[in-house]
Amino acid sequence: MRTLRSVCVFCGSSPGLHPLYGEAADALGIALAKAGLRLVYGGGKVGLMGRIADAALAAGGAVVGVIPRFLMDLEVGHLGLTEMHIVSSMHERKAMMAQLSDAFAVLPGGIGTLEEMFEILTWGQLGLHPKPCGILNVSGYYNRLSGFLDHMVDEGFLKTSHRNALQSANTPEDLLTALKTAPVEHEIKWVGLDHV
Ligand code: AMP
Repeated sequence: MRTLRSVCVFCGSSPGLHPLYGEAADALGIALAKAGLRLVYGGGKVGLMGRIADAALAAGGAVVGVIPRFLMDLEVGHLGLTEMHIVSSMHERKAMMAQLSDAFAVLPGGIGTLEEMFEILTWGQLGLHPKPCGILNVSGYYNRLSGFLDHMVDEGFLKTSHRNALQSANTPEDLLTALKTAPVEHEIKWVGLDHV
């Protein structure tokens, strides 16, 4: 069992079309607060980002935002967080979010959400961190992505252990349990370098 203090959540800066997405963001924010876990996220007030931050704060949780200056200047930054870090670039933001967190959770979102998730998975498969990552598969939103990851394994571009490093759950409670208990094994990435 892994001890978690802070969980980084990647999620859409849009709300999505179905109310289920916003409700899931609320539920994860409340679950984090109730579990005494600090939410680390991109610091936005828009879309699911704003929803999860507001829900965690309203439930008494601590919320840390990490936002680049240019997004703050566009006035999409949340002004009521427990702590806000204003950084100079998207790269700096992602590095700081990763450093401040013990695990990563992914709600529905667009390409920004996927870019953040895949960077964490990429760093994990290279052995750069041992932190777990899991998706909250709201209403099957990520089913086709899961299918494509299986296709990568079938076609020899992704190791099964690296594919399985991405946890998936249907409820916030199950996701937090998965992040606490999932083994993170490090298998060397490249075929032919197994002896290294
Ligand atoms: P997307 O899934 O394309 O909506 O992008 C969401 C992710 O990209 C978030 O986790 C943020 O880190 C970043 N992002 C995109 N748009 C914004 C915004 N308006 N304010 C703050 N962060 C944003």
